[in-house]
Amino acid sequence: MSEHWAVIGAGMAGLAVARRLSDAGRSVTVFDKSRGLGGRMATRRAGSFRFDHGAQYFTARGERFLSLVENLTAEGLVARWGEDHVGVPGMSAPARVLAPQATIVTDCTVSSLTRGAMGWSVSTTDGPAATDGNGVFAGVVVAVPAPQAVPLLMSAGSNWDGARRATYAPCWALMLGFAARTKLSEDRVRPEDATIAWIARDGSKPGRDPSGDAIVVHATPAWSRASLEETPERAAAALHACFRELTGETADPSFIAAHRWRYALVEQPAGEPFFWDPSARLGACGDWCIGPRVEAAFDSGDGLAGTIIGPNAAR
Ligand SMILES: Cc1cc2nc3c(=O)[nH]c(=O)nc-3n(C[C@H](O)[C@H](O)[C@H](O)COP(=O)(O)OP(=O)(O)OC[C@H]3O[C@@H](n4cnc5c(N)ncnc54)[C@H](O)[C@@H]3O)c2cc1C
Repeated sequence: MSEHWAVIGAGMAGLAVARRLSDAGRSVTVFDKSRGLGGRMATRRAGSFRFDHGAQYFTARGERFLSLVENLTAEGLVARWGEDHVGVPGMSAPARVLAPQATIVTDCTVSSLTRGAMGWSVSTTDGPAATDGNGVFAGVVVAVPAPQAVPLLMSAGSNWDGARRATYAPCWALMLGFAARTKLSEDRVRPEDATIAWIARDGSKPGRDPSGDAIVVHATPAWSRASLEETPERAAAALHACFRELTGETADPSFIAAHRWRYALVEQPAGEPFFWDPSARLGACGDWCIGPRVEAAFDSGDGLAGTIIGPNAAR
């Protein structure tokens, strides 16, 4: 019987682990606290509007990630947006196909990891998760943002420094849906501004509905940090006022919402590509190991899985 592994987190890093372990013949169960997959590669739908309110686009430079991106492009799930790549029809789209053999358990916030005589157990605050393999997992990988990884690693008996070193900047994201095209002169703008760092016209990305105007605005790290505990309504109103001033757009949006990413962009990475304890068979990975990019999350997860399966495995 094949070894059964647990992966906590279904963002790019966790799915990269699940993909490579599954390809090497392991059974894998991925747990995520959200309803969907992809983590910060996120897309929100509101009526006919579709907003990529997390990662905006990604690079693909490394050989293994480039090869994955080429396959996803051939399947129509990734396309070029200028020099960069985006998911089609939204940033979360590629996540659904990354680890097709893995069992995915959503709506499951993992609160502790414990190792017994038979193997690892994954628990929520309600007790052990009711899934196949729980209690006999051969190994566990934690693929969640560093501040959320620390308590899980501690529950598993690990006190790895790298996860404590890594820090993130928060980001408030504003989603604006307009019935008609706005005055925004370019499809992506990086204003020199204390409040707004980025404005994107999502309809300009390939495979989107170009009617109306779906706009994503990202606040600067400084403004996001200072406004971290604002309500979404107040953050949306403040960012919308600033957007109006910067763009001159006076039309009222038919949809407006703000989303807070408490852990958005890695500021200080751990500086090691992943964490692996071979005697405990416990690993950790994520963008926070390397840097603030989708590709870094893939490299971290894929590299960890490569170490777990060892050099003699086929992939
Ligand atoms: C606003 C914003 C803009 C960005 N822009 C870009 C960009 O333009 N280009 C780029 O390359 N990158 C960008 N990024 C960064 C990029 O999104 C991340 O680097 C990458 O997606 C991280 O992947 P990950 O798998 O490491 O983490 P995540 O995507 O955060 O995945 C972690 C997963 O773990 C789950 N989780 C957390 N805790 C638990 C728990 N206790 N139990 C179960 N599940 C749990 C979460 O729900 C999540 O699905 C941006 C991010 C944000 C937020």
